[in-house]
Amino acid sequence: MQFIDLKTQYAEIKENVLARMNEVLDSGQYIFGPVVEECEQKLAELVGAKHCLSMGSGTDALIAALLAIDIKPGDEVIVPAFSFYATAEMVSLLGAIPVFVDVNPKTFNIDCELIEKYINNKTKAIIPVSLYGQAADFDKINAVASNYKLPVIEDGAQSYGAKYKDRFSCNLSDIACTSFYPAKPLGCYGEGGACFTNNDELAERMKIARNHGQTGGYHHTHLGFNGRLDALQCAVIIEKLKIFPGEVEKRQSVAKLYNELLSDRIITPYVEEHNISSWAQYTIQVENREEIRAKLSEQNIPTAVHYPKPMHMQPYYQDLGFKKGIAPISETICDKVLSLPMHPYLSQNDVEKISTELLKLV
Ligand SMILES: *Cc1c(COP(=O)(O)O)cnc(C)c1O
Repeated sequence: MQFIDLKTQYAEIKENVLARMNEVLDSGQYIFGPVVEECEQKLAELVGAKHCLSMGSGTDALIAALLAIDIKPGDEVIVPAFSFYATAEMVSLLGAIPVFVDVNPKTFNIDCELIEKYINNKTKAIIPVSLYGQAADFDKINAVASNYKLPVIEDGAQSYGAKYKDRFSCNLSDIACTSFYPAKPLGCYGEGGACFTNNDELAERMKIARNHGQTGGYHHTHLGFNGRLDALQCAVIIEKLKIFPGEVEKRQSVAKLYNELLSDRIITPYVEEHNISSWAQYTIQVENREEIRAKLSEQNIPTAVHYPKPMHMQPYYQDLGFKKGIAPISETICDKVLSLPMHPYLSQNDVEKISTELLKLV
């Protein structure tokens, strides 16, 4: 059994993907050009955003977004304590300071009630993460942010395709960043990512940022980097987008079946009434995680832990002096979270097998 089955998906779309990639190879245009533009237009269209800027990765998308809002050394940026490391890492890479806010114990997204407490005159932005595919509570976050005139950047690396109150993730705040890493809900066949915005000026800044701060040929007005996504990956994304809505539907069925089979005896993922998750992960909470992982592995059932440590407990941030205790919920859930196989091609049989084996162990 696979944790995420990318081969079955490829077998379904192989001919179309190869045809599209061949067109790119024959065209001689590998960077920028019509295929990249078509991909960006389709990505923007799905979430209803005015602009999409493709990026070399989700990490690049975060840097471009932070450069677009002029984050400078010493600035503070609010992030949830519980996320993949890149969210805080890119803030630190630009010399700014991540301010770790604890998460809601049910959704594991940033605790909106706590945000205001961490805002001061050094605060320059808020980066909520839409974890496991469920959008953070953007109405509440945007309300706090607008009181203090702070830009909000959604880290939607795991949530492209998700919905929040009938709006799409990646179109819920000033800027959104997503990732097309192969294991994400919409993956490409390599590295990829994108930024989204409805703001013309921010779009222009991200465009400049991803292309070495150039506003014209070898005319560099800003500091940027190489954050471009190549046309071959865009060709893959264009083809994958055709099956993507169907895949998000299939993930709902897998999650629903897991919920039915497990929720009597296990803490299953909590998705708010107003949210539709894109199910990047199906993550339960258990007490005896390591034992369960070992026993499931013996049955050829792969599992993963997202994430074994909150960001402020990572050695890098510990060495900088961030203290244990600043985000107690995050520090507790990291010992309990266990992600089960989740992908659109997971059979009912497999979900049943995983659930049966799991229930023997709790
Ligand atoms: C995957 C991920 C990223 C980074 O995306 P890459 O494409 O791997 O660079 C950033 N933030 C979160 C929350 C992620 O899950």
